[in-house]
Amino acid sequence: MTTIGEAWRLARQRIDRLDARLLVEHVASCSHADLLAHPGRPLSALQVRQLEALVQRRTSGEPLAHLVGSVGFYGREFSVSADVLVPRPETELLVELALERLRALQEPAVADLGTGSGVLAVSLKCHCPQARVVAVDLSAAALVVARMNAARHGVSIRFIEGDWYGPLGGERFDLIVANPPYVAMSDPHLASGGLPFEPRMALTDGVAGGDGLECTRVIIGGAAMHLLPGGWLLVEHGHDQGEAVRQLLQEAGLTGIATWPDLAGIERVSAARLPGSRDRESQQDGFFFQTHEL
Ligand code: GLN
Repeated sequence: MTTIGEAWRLARQRIDRLDARLLVEHVASCSHADLLAHPGRPLSALQVRQLEALVQRRTSGEPLAHLVGSVGFYGREFSVSADVLVPRPETELLVELALERLRALQEPAVADLGTGSGVLAVSLKCHCPQARVVAVDLSAAALVVARMNAARHGVSIRFIEGDWYGPLGGERFDLIVANPPYVAMSDPHLASGGLPFEPRMALTDGVAGGDGLECTRVIIGGAAMHLLPGGWLLVEHGHDQGEAVRQLLQEAGLTGIATWPDLAGIERVSAARLPGSRDRESQQDGFFFQTHEL
């Protein structure tokens, strides 16, 4: 008979210790505390076989998130499948920067382009319930996952299938966020780690010999047509793309251009806004002024 403690010990000889623990907990439906307090709890023969299959898949590089079907992002659990990019911790920076900008607004209109699993749209809506959020993705399969995540966290988001701004017509937003595919086709990274198990269309623009920025160009190039005056665009990019992205933001006529590093100190998110002032923001300033006077 195999116990959960023994299964953990065996699994961590083959894969990362934390991954081993999470797979045992997943298969045995137990918590970390159970594993520590009751290591002698038995696994059924079926659970042993399931664990063996998952450990095998993990050794071949398949992301842990695919094996357990979910991943933590900005304090919540999100469902993921092979149809979406696995949310990365560095993308939490984008949420942080977006929320800072949304805080000042009454009922902001927000667009998430290439939403994938929906982590950006759902996290923003959860933390800023007064926002009206629309999330676009070209992949119908990704939108199934994103809708599931919105339901899982009880938020209402308008999901639309389409290509970047394509389905949005002339709509304008206070905030546009995007974590587009930005890995260059020639980047060897695409063939390593868990990337071969993720959708290509979520990782790279598919332009042979290109710089990976084809989708970013479309997103930045269309921003002026889709932002309200004073509205912000926030876009995630690769470690060596900060300068090129700032250049694109400038060429697009946007101002307030800035880049922030992720926790690893790598330039990861750049932002800029459409010149002009925002009615709602100035109304708020007026309100502040009035209360001050009273
Ligand atoms: N940051 C991811 C990686 O390099 C890529 C994510 C993306 O293309 N948006 O693995």
